[in-house]
Amino acid sequence: MLNFSFQNQTRIHFGEGQIDKLSTEIPKDAKVLVVYGGGSIKNNGVYDQVVNALKDHTWFEFSGIEPNPKYDTLMKAQAVIKEHDIDYIMAVGGGSVADGCKFIAAAALYAGDDPWDILAKQQPIESALPIGVVLTLPATGSETNTNAVVTRDGNKLPFSSAAVRPQFAVLDPAVTLSLSDRQISNGVVDAFIHTMEQYLTYSVSGKVQDRFAEGLLQTLIEEGPKALQPETKDNLDVRANIMWSATMALNGLIGAGVPQDWATHMIGHELTGAYEIDHARTLSIVLPAVMKVRRTAKHEKLLQYAERVWHITQGSEDQRIDQAIALTEDFFQKMAMPIRLSDIELGAADIDILMANLEGHGMVELGETKEITLAISRQILEQAS
Ligand code: NAP
Ligand code: FE
Repeated sequence: MLNFSFQNQTRIHFGEGQIDKLSTEIPKDAKVLVVYGGGSIKNNGVYDQVVNALKDHTWFEFSGIEPNPKYDTLMKAQAVIKEHDIDYIMAVGGGSVADGCKFIAAAALYAGDDPWDILAKQQPIESALPIGVVLTLPATGSETNTNAVVTRDGNKLPFSSAAVRPQFAVLDPAVTLSLSDRQISNGVVDAFIHTMEQYLTYSVSGKVQDRFAEGLLQTLIEEGPKALQPETKDNLDVRANIMWSATMALNGLIGAGVPQDWATHMIGHELTGAYEIDHARTLSIVLPAVMKVRRTAKHEKLLQYAERVWHITQGSEDQRIDQAIALTEDFFQKMAMPIRLSDIELGAADIDILMANLEGHGMVELGETKEITLAISRQILEQAS
């Protein structure tokens, strides 16, 4: 196992009715900015629950954070923060709202000239306004982690800082009942691929991390399809298991002390940046191709994945790996996700555009060993065609 330091101080309130906890989590004298997206929270009762919980607080609101949050939208919140002297950011939504709030909170206290440098130049952040999250879409893990992704003019760029880890997060599985099937699928598959990016690397005998990861993968494989089937989709235990898996998949725990890949995410970001494809629908296309192109480097872990996650014990090593990759693709298709670029009507000309963008964003040595050069990224995209 590799050396690591681990701390995740986000307090989690899990279960029905827990939105009430906002009333005690946020200091009474705080000036709160409630930030949300396109309005789903107004239709499913979440907004009303938040308003009720904040009845003794001074609060303002900022809405319109779009999926794959845009820099220009997030910068508009700065004027509201200054006008009302806001000192607490309350994110209510999915990963886009949570990520957007992390950038808003960091930009508000940024000491440099241009907050875009946080993303474009990876300028470190020394402080940020405190953040709380009411999560409405289990997927990204953003509710308890230090990461965010922001888009400007087709450039989708990540940043990470301990200063933007939320202070608390409310996870109420009941609020996920209003999700569309498409968003459920996106969430399950995003969480699955977060787990894979921290698991399917090379072995460092991180037995604890591996078994946590395998448990999460198996849970998502079992519960994900149930959240799409009419007879089980409203089952709160199904929703609870998906929600908790998604948080656990990217809260830092399973990634502590093990190598991490993230090539699938970095290549996927280019697909969203250039073509506005939903985040998870880029990942379900890229991951199988990464598994195929990197099968030699990932040989040992692919065999472990085949045996422990899919219970494949028969056949040669190559046959077991082939079967595990095929079952992964079947699972994505069961979740109604695309698995090839052609499924989203992209072809060879698009690969050239994606390659130019990868190069422009400095994504030239990806993966757990940094061996994924631009030439190998091209192979991955061609494999995904
Ligand atoms: P999202 O973009 O936050 O939300 C997608 C859509 O779902 C929105 O239109 C939203 O509508 C709707 N929605 C959310 N909750 C709902 C509910 N309970 N009922 C009905 N509709 C609901 O989706 P996401 O997958 O959570 O976030 C994706 C973003 O996170 C991407 O930018 C991705 O790159 C990023 N990401 C971040 C991390 C991280 O570690 N920070 C990891 C992976 C991905 P409204 O806008 O109307 O609410
Ligand atoms: Fe993701």
